[in-house]
Parts: sequence; C-alpha cells; structure tokens
Amino acid sequence: MNENIPNQKNRVRPQTRQNASRRPGGKDGQLKPFNSSVSRSAAVRAQKRSQADAQKIANQYASAAPVQVGEARRANFIDDSPRLKLIGLGGMDGGGSKNMLLVEYQNDAVIMDCGNDLGVDLPGINYGIADTAYLESIRHKLRAYLITHGHLDHIGGLPHIVPKLPAPIYGSKFTIGRVEEIFENFGLPMPDGFELQTVMMNENTHERLKVGPFFVELVRITHSIPGSTCIVLDTPVGRLINTGDFRFDPNPLDHERSDLERLKELGDEGVLALLSESTTVERMGRTPSESTIEQSFIDIINQAPGRIFVGLFSTNMNRVQMIINAAVHHGRKIAMDGRSMVSTLEMAVRHGFVRIPKGTFVPIASVPSMKDHEVVVVCTGSQGEPSSALQRMASGDHKHIKLKEQDTVILSSSPIPESGNDALIGTMVDGLTRKGVHVFEHRNHELDGVGPLHVSGHASRDEYAEMIQLTKPKFFIPIYGAYRVKQRHIDVAVEQGVPRRNCVNAENGQVIAMTQDKIEIAGEVPHGTVLVDQTGAIVNNIVVKDRVLLAEEGLVAVVLTVDKKNGNLLTSPDIISRGFIYIRDNEELMNNLRQELRRATLQRFKRIDLDRFKAELKDHITHFLFDQTQRSPIVIPVVNVIGSKGDVKTAAGGRTKTGDEIAAEQERRFQEMRTRLLSQDARVD
Ligand SMILES: [Zn+2]
Repeated sequence: MNENIPNQKNRVRPQTRQNASRRPGGKDGQLKPFNSSVSRSAAVRAQKRSQADAQKIANQYASAAPVQVGEARRANFIDDSPRLKLIGLGGMDGGGSKNMLLVEYQNDAVIMDCGNDLGVDLPGINYGIADTAYLESIRHKLRAYLITHGHLDHIGGLPHIVPKLPAPIYGSKFTIGRVEEIFENFGLPMPDGFELQTVMMNENTHERLKVGPFFVELVRITHSIPGSTCIVLDTPVGRLINTGDFRFDPNPLDHERSDLERLKELGDEGVLALLSESTTVERMGRTPSESTIEQSFIDIINQAPGRIFVGLFSTNMNRVQMIINAAVHHGRKIAMDGRSMVSTLEMAVRHGFVRIPKGTFVPIASVPSMKDHEVVVVCTGSQGEPSSALQRMASGDHKHIKLKEQDTVILSSSPIPESGNDALIGTMVDGLTRKGVHVFEHRNHELDGVGPLHVSGHASRDEYAEMIQLTKPKFFIPIYGAYRVKQRHIDVAVEQGVPRRNCVNAENGQVIAMTQDKIEIAGEVPHGTVLVDQTGAIVNNIVVKDRVLLAEEGLVAVVLTVDKKNGNLLTSPDIISRGFIYIRDNEELMNNLRQELRRATLQRFKRIDLDRFKAELKDHITHFLFDQTQRSPIVIPVVNVIGSKGDVKTAAGGRTKTGDEIAAEQERRFQEMRTRLLSQDARVD
C-alpha cells in the first residue's frame, strides 16, 4: 500500500503548509505531507496493526486454507496403511464447540457427531461449523453419521454438511427426532433431490448394525437430554467407544439409568480406545442426581402467591416433564413459550418422551385471562439470550405476558461456562427484579432458603474415572473439551492405570493413528471453522475481518469531483463518516481534511494516473486522520472525473467495481429515481 512513498526514512521533518504549496510534487515525487507530528509510515503502520488485529480476531474461526486441500488429496491418494485414523474436525478445543470426529480406515469412514459452535462472538455471526475441506477430499469413503445425542453442539452442523456430503444418520429415537426437527426448521432450502436418510437405533437392546467394515452399537447413558448414548464402534483394528456427553445419574427423572453393565461387558471384551468427553473434568466428586431438584420445585410452587415462570434449556425434556408433574399436582395448568422449546416439546410428545395429562396444556396467549394461581409457564431464556421468551418478558416486550408483582420466575440453569452469558443473565434478572418479580436463581438457592434448582448434565471427576474403570481402554483420548481440561482428563486416566504414553491430547485437525499396539499423532489435515449468519448462509472470513475493523475503527469515505482538464476540484469534497467521529462535532477537523484534499488534488492529480492518485490519496487521508485522532478508520476515496464533454468517469472505470462503488452507484440511481418520482404528474396516480 505504501510503495508510492519511497524513502520515508530519509525524509527530513515535515514541511509547513507554505513550504508544501511552494514546492509542488515532481513527476516521480510524492504528495508533500502536511504539518504532522506523526510520520506517514507510523500512520500506515498503525493502520496495518488495526487490520492485523481484526484479522487475528476473525482468524480465531478461520476456514481451512485451500492450499492444504490439494496436499491432503495427494497424501490421501497414496494412503493404504492398515491404520485406524481418528481426526477431530471439531470438538478437540473449548467445550460446546462444533463437535465432530472422523474415523477413517482405508476406504471407509464414518463421522461421529456433527455439531455447531454457538459461542462464536463475531459481528453478524450466529454460529460456526466445521470446515469440510478434508471430508470433501475423501467423500467416496463416507458411510454414515453416528450421533451421540441431540444437543446442537452435536447435531447443529448436519443441515449444512449432510446435503453436501450425503450419508445416513444413525442415532437413538430421541436423537433422530431432534435431527428431523432441526432439518424441518432449517431456514435454507435443501438441494434438489436431497433426501434425509436416518437410521433409528435401539440403545437398550445392544443391537449392532454393520456400516462398511464397522459395527455400530449405541449404549444408553445419562445426560441432560433424553436418548443420550455412547457410540461403540467396532473396527478392523479394534473397538472404539465415544462416550458422548454424559454423567452417571443413579436416579434420573425418566428412570433410564446409564447402562453400566453393558459398558463393563464391553470393557471386559476389550476396548482399543476410549474417547471420553472432558467438559467438567476439573469438578471434584460426583454430579448430584437430577432428582435432587424435584423437591425444590414442589416447595416453590407450593408457596408461590401468583403465576410461576420457569426458564430452562429447551431440550431438557425430562426436567420439563418434572415441572409438568409438579404443576399438575398443584392443580395448575401448563403453558410453553419460546420457539425452540415448543418445537422440541412437540417432537418429544409425538415420540412419547413427554406426557401431558389431557386438559392441562394451555396456549401462552390465554395465560393473561387465567387466574394467577392456576398457571405455570415453561419457557426459554435461562441464559438471558436476547429475544428469548424470558428476556422479552423481563424487558416488557412480550406479546402476551406482562410481568407483575406476585409473579415468580425460576431460572433452572447455570451460565454456560466461558460463554459470557453471566452478564446477559444479570441484565435480565435486573429487569425482572425491577418489575417486583421474585426471582429464584440456582446460584442463590441457599440465600433464598430453597433447595438446588439446577444440576449439570456433565460428569464430575469421579464419574470420569469410573467410565475409564468400566471400559478399561488400551488407549485413552480425551475429547470435547479445552486443551488444559483434556490434559487433566489424561491425569485421571493415568491414575486409573492407563500408561501415559497410551494417552493422546490431540488438537483439531491432527490425525491420531492407531494400530493394535501403537497410538501416535501422524500429521494434520485441513480443518477450520465456517461461519454462518442468522439466515443460515455462510459468511466469508474477509467479510468478518472488515466487520471487525469497521466495528473497531469506523469508516471514512471522501468523494472528490475533479475537472479532467485542469485537475481542479469542481465541488467541495464530500466527507462521509460512519462509526469514526460525528462530523458535526468535529467541524474544524473536517474543514482541515477538506483543505488537505484540495491541496492533494491540486498537487498530484495531473501528474499521476488515477489508480495511483487514489492509492496516494488513501494513504494521505489515513495519515492525516491518524495524526489528528490516533485512529485508523477504513478509508474509501471516490474520485469522479468530469471530462470536457461533461461525462462522469469514476475512478473504478474499466475494472470490476468494488462493493462500495456499486453501493454508491445504486445510491445515485435511487436518488435519480426519487427525483423522477417526485416530479411526476400527480394525475398519473
Ligand atoms: Zn450435550
């Protein structure tokens, strides 16, 4: 960008403006600087730094580099080793992220889980999914998607990835119900001819299905969503067990305990590798049973003077059933709110996972006309998510519900760790408290003199240890967690007798190669994150970088109209600022900038070609604004050249127009159209 500015280092201190005007730039010279306290190179460096920072932020979720894809293709072409390869395309980093493991053996491959990452904090981005560049290079091998359970960080990538790389999806009855639900609710159309293929497996009967050279079995496990399972994958090299998300709840609300007997049996038969989720390895002891919160709800419902609202995760159907039972027991009716909650409930009722006694379910719209002590509302928003049902009630924007004193709100949840949701929940609880509502939060349950209102769906350290004891794996691979947490998990495995050399803490993209007696990391495949916006569309990394830069520094566009003949400005330069400074509060700065633009045009326009003029102008404005404000907004110069015949040629003439130029042109056309419409004869109407 600064190649038009040679020899910056040798330049003597900036000249005064009088000097500059006396010495116009020579043919090979450069635009003379203004009276600046900052060198132009410092300003350009500062802008580069801003751009690099924005790139760094955007790159946290970069997609796979295309150059690597070719390498992978070549590498893969000659790979016929009888090793079992396990690759985390996602999920080998922070918890709750696009979990997706690939198992590859010679000419066959299966995918275990295919989630999305809801924790992506970039402007305009809804979530991330795993980059499938590598999968595309081995697409002929893909036999199946095997799913542990129906949480979005395990299934949310499916509607994006399966239509591109079709294969049947295997899972328990509830999991398949969830998969169908998210395909039905997916915002974008599926490609022509695409048909969702699912295989419902019974996790209770130890049924085994053949998939290519593999055998698949699901084993029942407790978590915070019905139908959670471990995946048992018997391969020609040996048996893999992927635990999925789990805890060992001795007394789950649906009475469906983890199938410990089967896990032990599988362990006795021999397990090559245990792939165990690592979310909360740092938590000591055991996670309390879900049933420990039942009495707390009964107590609160007993004493609540008015309406009761319960916020919880939309897929925790066993807890929803528990609340329905408690409400019905107290003669209250149940209403539901929140799109995701209603959609999952419909599916759960249809498949017989939730039972609502006849006549107890009422629509949310009829709640205001009911007596206060007659209703319990179960809704989304326990994480304070913007525009969730509970958040809309807290801010007074809900269509049907106006909260009032005497209402009780129970948040049956904890903030998702490292999600930043604490602040959102805090704001929501403030809103609720302002309305005089009595709010029960799990973290304050002792303060409020009630029992616990939430328990985690994940194991604690002793349960993670028990999983290793039961399955007695030869190799141990911690999955679904941050690096440091996975390392702690390896410590647990070593305590349980797995040799440390048999444990691997792998990163996303790393190839874990296994034979019957050896495990090692053998190279890396392309991997990364593809970003998705609210509509479900993919967003390019470069767009995200620009958004970050715009958010940090703002934008300044200058529009110059230059007489081709003499290089004079025909109008005063237009300056447009967005997110940088408010022009009306900075008249002096703007006037100085206009003066700089006049001087620069006079000095340089006639001497160099238009592209170079624009490049110099951009650098010059960047320098000027940095000198004056110590900030580096995105600078867009637009130069209109008016020739002798009065034609307008923009600086973009001849080459492909940039988005900004197209936008400017559209704006101009719109204005013309508007003028035409306004001047139209009214009778034409
Ligand atoms: Zn889960």
